[in-house]
Amino acid sequence: MRVPLIDWEPYAPLQPLHLDWLARAGVEVAVLRLDLIDPLVSGNKWFKLHQPLHAAHAAGAHGLISLGGAHSNHLHALAAAGKRFGFTTVGLLRGHPQETPTTRDLQDFGMHLHWLGFAGYRARHAPDFWRPWQAQYPQLQAVPEGGASLAGAQGCSPLVKQVRDQVAALGWADYDAWWLAAGTGTTLAGLVLAEAGQRRVYGAMAVPEDHGVAPTVRALLQQAGSPVGDYQLIEASRGGFARVDEALLAFIRRSELDSGVPLEPLYTGKALLALKEAVDAGHVRRGMRVVFVHTGGLQGRRGFAPAV
Ligand SMILES: *Cc1c(COP(=O)(O)O)cnc(C)c1O
Repeated sequence: MRVPLIDWEPYAPLQPLHLDWLARAGVEVAVLRLDLIDPLVSGNKWFKLHQPLHAAHAAGAHGLISLGGAHSNHLHALAAAGKRFGFTTVGLLRGHPQETPTTRDLQDFGMHLHWLGFAGYRARHAPDFWRPWQAQYPQLQAVPEGGASLAGAQGCSPLVKQVRDQVAALGWADYDAWWLAAGTGTTLAGLVLAEAGQRRVYGAMAVPEDHGVAPTVRALLQQAGSPVGDYQLIEASRGGFARVDEALLAFIRRSELDSGVPLEPLYTGKALLALKEAVDAGHVRRGMRVVFVHTGGLQGRRGFAPAV
């Protein structure tokens, strides 16, 4: 069966975020809930998959093959999309076979899994990495890890229109800036491209400096032919990707109770805490209206239970 033509542009609701530290600072925040787009498919990863799915359809492919870890939101979204829309998915996983809530879902969704070990996974950037997989799965198209590509970024651009269509319902005349977690920076690049300098996009980096978010964003904007964009990257990894500390977990529990918006500790929790730090430090001025993107990832927090 071929990849069907998928013209599903899920709608992410924009909701006011009520937290006492925002009210005190006179900063208004609305959350774009990518975690609510669908019961099965969640988060920014769907938007990043949109164009690769169209390309796979156009090429007559039967499905997609991609890579990730045992808690990967990217593989989860890909497998869920495969189940929802009826196409083949294959996941190449980091490390040795293990069962996590995520890998159970991947299998339930019908994704075929291959465990590459750690050295095998590290080789994923080697020029001939894909050759054996293409030989084994000639009808599938490969999607880069985490959906990091210009196609992935462009798939996130419709979010800008979704926000513009919803600000009036919040009672806002307009909004001033975006705030979101960055892992590769692909989603951020898509917003920067769609805003074309009209509003600044702040990226709270959930990974340390050496993961190369800044060069990735620069390269994506360059490839799109708009090398200058209005954005700023902020260190928010708290010592490493997936590094979680008690202050972060306490902040997440508190924020969830006060706002009713669920968060997870890898991306959205760190991004919101970084926003609080910027607000507390006076870097976000009184009267600002900020769109915080809830990039999803809640499926992954089952791997942290019962810490959160
Ligand atoms: C992957 C992911 C991100 C990072 O997105 P990038 O486009 O790689 O920057 C942020 N939040 C969540 C929940 C994610 O799963």
